[in-house]
Amino acid sequence: MTTQSDLSSYSMSFNCIYCHSLQESRQFVCKDLMYSSNHRFLYYRCSSCFSLQISTTPPNLQSFYPSTYSPFSSPPLSKLSRNRLVFRLLTQLPHQLSLAFTSFFNPDQVVSYIASSKLSRDTSILEVGCGAASGLMSLHSIGFTDLTGTDCFIDPQYLENLPFHAYSSTLPPEPRRYDVIMLNHVFEHLEDPFSLLCQLQSYLSPNGVICIFCPLANSFASYIFDAFWIQLDPPRHLNIPSTIGFRYLAARAGYESVSMTCNSTSFQFIGSVQALCGIPLLSSSSIYNGSILSKSILALLTPLLSIISYCLNLISRGDQARFIIRSF
Ligand SMILES: [Zn+2]
Repeated sequence: MTTQSDLSSYSMSFNCIYCHSLQESRQFVCKDLMYSSNHRFLYYRCSSCFSLQISTTPPNLQSFYPSTYSPFSSPPLSKLSRNRLVFRLLTQLPHQLSLAFTSFFNPDQVVSYIASSKLSRDTSILEVGCGAASGLMSLHSIGFTDLTGTDCFIDPQYLENLPFHAYSSTLPPEPRRYDVIMLNHVFEHLEDPFSLLCQLQSYLSPNGVICIFCPLANSFASYIFDAFWIQLDPPRHLNIPSTIGFRYLAARAGYESVSMTCNSTSFQFIGSVQALCGIPLLSSSSIYNGSILSKSILALLTPLLSIISYCLNLISRGDQARFIIRSF
């Protein structure tokens, strides 16, 4: 258990995992923004690349991942059955038209990216840290045939029932290469993202790309809301890169940057203001609790804040991004 008094026992040395700077610009103490808790966590912001990292990974980190944490709480099979008719109709359309509709209507970032990339249905796709695999299930439903997912925190029996290769491990046990490797909000949970990027070199096709979705430390929301920035998500987010920090790390692991696109939403404002007011995101008093009143307030707030988010994305200051990299 980590309480405020325990913070003094944390290591106070700093070594930026992204740019290797030894000099932190500032430290700040944060609380869990998702759940009610007395725990406090110390974070650093690097003075050189502005990336964020926790001072020390809590030894009991797994206890901060209850079953209600979002990647594990949405069984894709029930979601699929709900959307079965829609997907069946989509697969009847020509492939490119099917992708266009999927990209437009699907809020899942993985699905939206794959669909907008106009990839053929036999493209080999690996999702590392696929959670309940809802994104892969959607891709399977619109006809993608070479899909693989891995997640070491998902029940192996659950994965066995999926209609594609899925492994309860960090990486696939069998050696093979993929055209596209996806990490959808996984990177920031890793204690050593550099090692994973190095390992992925042996899983990537010669012309393949790795697509990484993650929060962005040099975003407007990160600076404005600071310890209450909702995507800081202490202590589950161990490291959050800035744009330049990510590129330093990727280059050391043997990758060049293809593109970086911000895709932030109104959540960066609504979630952060709520955190600032002391309301945990996953509490009954949260504005995301699904009540009619909450939905009405969100309906009023979202349009304007979405426009602001769109503008921030245009100037690369949204609070989350999609990085695409390939081997040198
Ligand atoms: Zn740095």
